[in-house]
Amino acid sequence: MNRDVDVVVIGAGFAGLYALHALREQGFTVATFEAGTSVGGTWFWNRYPGARCDVESLDYQYSFSEELATEWTWTERYAPQPEILAYAEWVADRLDLRRHITFETRVDGARFDEESSTWRVSTSDGAVTTARFVVTAAGSISATSVPPFAGAESFRGETYHPGRWPAEGVDFTGKRVAVIGVGSSGVQLIPHLADAAGHLTVFQRTPAYTVPARNRALCADEITLAKKNHAVLAEQKRRTFSGINLPMTGDAILATPEPKRTTVLEQAWKLGGNLFLTAFSDVQLDLDANELMAAFVRDKIAAVVDDPATARALTPTDYPIGGKRIVTDTDFYATFNRPNTDVVSLREDPIVEIVPTGVRTESGLHEVDVIVYATGYDNLTGALTRIDFRGRDGVSLKDSWADGAHTYLGLATSGFPNLFTITGPQSPSVLVNMFAAIEQHVEWIVRCLTDLRESGVVEIEALPESERQWGEQVEAAMAMTLYSKTNSWYRGANIAGKTQQALMYCGGLVDYRDRCDDVAADGYRGFVLTDAAALTEEEVA
Ligand code: NAP
Repeated sequence: MNRDVDVVVIGAGFAGLYALHALREQGFTVATFEAGTSVGGTWFWNRYPGARCDVESLDYQYSFSEELATEWTWTERYAPQPEILAYAEWVADRLDLRRHITFETRVDGARFDEESSTWRVSTSDGAVTTARFVVTAAGSISATSVPPFAGAESFRGETYHPGRWPAEGVDFTGKRVAVIGVGSSGVQLIPHLADAAGHLTVFQRTPAYTVPARNRALCADEITLAKKNHAVLAEQKRRTFSGINLPMTGDAILATPEPKRTTVLEQAWKLGGNLFLTAFSDVQLDLDANELMAAFVRDKIAAVVDDPATARALTPTDYPIGGKRIVTDTDFYATFNRPNTDVVSLREDPIVEIVPTGVRTESGLHEVDVIVYATGYDNLTGALTRIDFRGRDGVSLKDSWADGAHTYLGLATSGFPNLFTITGPQSPSVLVNMFAAIEQHVEWIVRCLTDLRESGVVEIEALPESERQWGEQVEAAMAMTLYSKTNSWYRGANIAGKTQQALMYCGGLVDYRDRCDDVAADGYRGFVLTDAAALTEEEVA
């Protein structure tokens, strides 16, 4: 079975769905491949109990279509996973996208043919699809990672990762359960596991700063208002730093005397959610300012957790709040007041090995029936390097990025012509509302392909010099933030051996959008464009 299309889209999550729709609207033929049995990407795979978005549902949706925005109605401030998955399914049906998606089919590799300037995309069904362009929509946080704990394969119980949760669910009733990891996934899971399990042991290396989500039902008025003002709000959102119409950030905490400082922090804490960080304008920029907010959160942990030693174990002390991705929770700290829940601080009591019956730390064996590895992902690059992309001269993307991802605007990488990435490394991606990031990337790529078609260009490739300059700007933008002062997945620090680099552009969505638009308006400055005639001449020569 061979196919021939203009564009292959990899993935049918929210990025892939919009790419397919927008490309098709412009008359391109598109083949989309999806490993799952249905659409939804992240929200298809992350079916663990408690999975819920930490961006408000009225923002966490497409904004490009008046129909989509007005016909769908969210029920809660933060949508739970089943509702987000239902939204993805509904969008796929509403836009009639399924007929151009091949499900249960993984893209194994893609090889660029320099003579014809096309990609040959190999899929797990044994087919090869030929396409002028490939657009990756494989997810920023989708390549699961489980650290290589000694003896892990010997474990006789069940093991799970939140990002590959069984669709049929898991029965934890009465079982002894271990969770390793307290990032967003672990923190959401832990209260639910504690409810069901006989005993829950949380293995924690770095304590998280988590803020109460304060989820609630949406009221009819706010839904009506959001729908009525959709067009204006969507336009405003496009010109924001974060892809969300935020209230004005507060004053500088360092310039705010007591008691006002605490009053503002208390109000933000009561409001809940990750916008807590925006209560003051300097918290993400200045370590002294950050410490004031961090101390406030530490006091909250001490007030909730009954046992002082457990409270101390759960309290982050050695990195700034927001330096790692801020976590939001429902009843996380209170869960440690339950008699069936313990925390093991791996910094004092490291994991030595996994044995058939449980997890052995330096202090002894913790016998368990189930291990949940909430240990995160090979973020931003993993989903791309796990596909065997072969660019010019057969060079693999994995090798090309061995010393760090190098891209131009986070959209393209030299040596791999006609390959575009949605929300990949060195773009704003996970630092902004994912829907805003996706829409900006898809719209830029579709405009680019349309421009190339109109001018007879068949090949586009980022110049190494453009990448070098962009890489410097990405690093400089992160250096101005506290992300550069923390070891986190934002810099690839969570994966052993991964080159540490700024994986996201921290300059904000509107700045990034303007830069991308400026490059396009300037004839795709920084890229080499080759038209069909020149390609034929090259071949003859
Ligand atoms: P994560 O934030 O990377 O957290 C992984 C956890 O596993 C950390 O606590 C980490 O500890 C621990 N860990 C990793 N390797 C370990 C090892 N060798 N030994 C012991 N502990 C280890 O992953 P995640 O929780 O899956 O979240 C990833 C991202 O997905 C989030 O930051 C967020 O952007 C997104 N997410 C969002 C939501 C939501 O919207 N609510 C939910 C889930 C995920 P260290 O900190 O010490 O490395």
